[in-house]
Amino acid sequence: MLRNLVVKGSGWQVQGVRFRHSTIPTTKMFINNEMVDSSSSEWIDLHNPATNEVVTRVPKCSQAEMEQAVEAAKAAFGSWSKTSILTRQQIMFKYQHIIRNNMKLLAENITKEQGKTLVDAEGDVLRGLQVVEHTCSITNLQLGEHLSGFAKDMDTYSIRQPLGVCAGITPFNFPAMIPLWMFPVAAVCGNTYVIKPSERDPGACMLLLDMLKEAGMPAGVVNCIHGTHDAVNFICDNPDIKAISFVGSDIAGKHIYERGSKNGKRVQSNMGAKNHGVIIPDASKENTLNQLVGAAFGAAGQRCMALSTAIFVGNANNWIPELIERSKQLKVNAGHEPGTDVGPVISPQSKNRILDIIEKSIKEGAKCILDGRNITVPGYERGNFVGPTILTNVTTDMTCYKEEVFGPVLVILSVDTMDEAINIINRNPYGNGTAIFTTNGATARKFVSEVDVGQVGVNVPIPVPLPMFSFTGSRGSFLGDANFYGKQGINFYTQIKTVTQMWREQDATDTRAAVSMPV
Ligand code: NAD
Repeated sequence: MLRNLVVKGSGWQVQGVRFRHSTIPTTKMFINNEMVDSSSSEWIDLHNPATNEVVTRVPKCSQAEMEQAVEAAKAAFGSWSKTSILTRQQIMFKYQHIIRNNMKLLAENITKEQGKTLVDAEGDVLRGLQVVEHTCSITNLQLGEHLSGFAKDMDTYSIRQPLGVCAGITPFNFPAMIPLWMFPVAAVCGNTYVIKPSERDPGACMLLLDMLKEAGMPAGVVNCIHGTHDAVNFICDNPDIKAISFVGSDIAGKHIYERGSKNGKRVQSNMGAKNHGVIIPDASKENTLNQLVGAAFGAAGQRCMALSTAIFVGNANNWIPELIERSKQLKVNAGHEPGTDVGPVISPQSKNRILDIIEKSIKEGAKCILDGRNITVPGYERGNFVGPTILTNVTTDMTCYKEEVFGPVLVILSVDTMDEAINIINRNPYGNGTAIFTTNGATARKFVSEVDVGQVGVNVPIPVPLPMFSFTGSRGSFLGDANFYGKQGINFYTQIKTVTQMWREQDATDTRAAVSMPV
């Protein structure tokens, strides 16, 4: 039983010097159902974003260690892919139960390593848990098709079979949810797995793997390595890995998609975003303003589905002063402090990048009507805090519009008509999410039909589909064919085999071989 494995220190090396009796814990690898110490010579310090104290050290696994993880997955595939689907389903039933009983433990780890508030961290776990719950329907999800008697004594049927060893590479912003989009879906289909969680907060993933072992998952089915670019390139190049799931930034996603595809692998790559919320003057004001504030500043804006750009149409622009008042009421503090609305951003580098974007945009003509740049949080003076910030007078050529800010910054554009808003959204390269706020059904219907974005909310600011559907970001936010989770996730992690069979009671009486196609 883990729960204490990731907090035990066992020494680390810095520039070839080994410190054996450090009190700073190290993050383990997970190979063959064991938490294993890395003997790497390169380690990454992981800091609590609220204090910048070192929480743990994460190894950059060596080539030999990463190969060991793939070998474990390869060895387990033979028996796991033949394990009955009912057995795989039963493990998922147990797994969802264990995760549900440990939500608080997982949330505490997420807050410590990633910074988000405890309540929001539980939401992170819950959205991943829902994917695990959905995998319990694998007996339906993995059904094939059958057409009986399409010719005399002949049938065709298709079956969905696992691919082999698959791999996942995850970002920092959802340390529980995104790993849970990946290995449970792959494993329940009969694949084995190597996951490389974000080096910035792997703790939740390690806890989840320990819980998977407790649920009865056999050794070698899911394994975990750590690292950065070298680990990613190892995954893209290893010939035993058949498919890669990636979630993260554009630069990494494009690289992984290209390198993995070139090596003949199936790749699904979810990347960056710029999500617009369109506010029509007939919208319900109270609801809309609250939704906007929550979706722009929740998780300190570090969500790929954050509503980071608001487009106010016509008279709705008069609501902006009230939006500012509501945003001012948000409490910025460490994620574990009661009542916190906005926690720190992930790192000092990320904070500086956000401040630079704000500064540059002001120089380009944006007006900073709520300025969270100089905030200090008593007791957490060294934390990476940025308060809610609102920029108006923004145009589409400004830095704050062109870049994904990934911080608590709401960018506001003003237009006269919904058509102009749709035009702006459809010209933006990203297609992850968007939302419209209106009380008019015809207006909403027109928006849904004309906007070129993969996930659309109508009076719903963050329209992330539950796992009976799939996460369908589009255009610049996604590379690949099959999306994450839902039926598409099952398609991604399986290949179709189609069987055409003829069973006759007696041998055919034809005396010659048929050499032409049947007509
Ligand atoms: P990131 O790309 O920096 O890191 C993601 C993973 O890729 C990590 O495991 C990291 O080790 C690896 N990596 C980082 N840089 C790399 C490079 N140059 N080459 C190869 N591998 C590299 O992303 P992040 O900062 O952890 O996460 C934030 C980003 O993820 C945002 O852009 C956000 O929009 C995006 N995101 C997208 C979705 C989605 O579903 N579309 C969901 C969550 C986050």
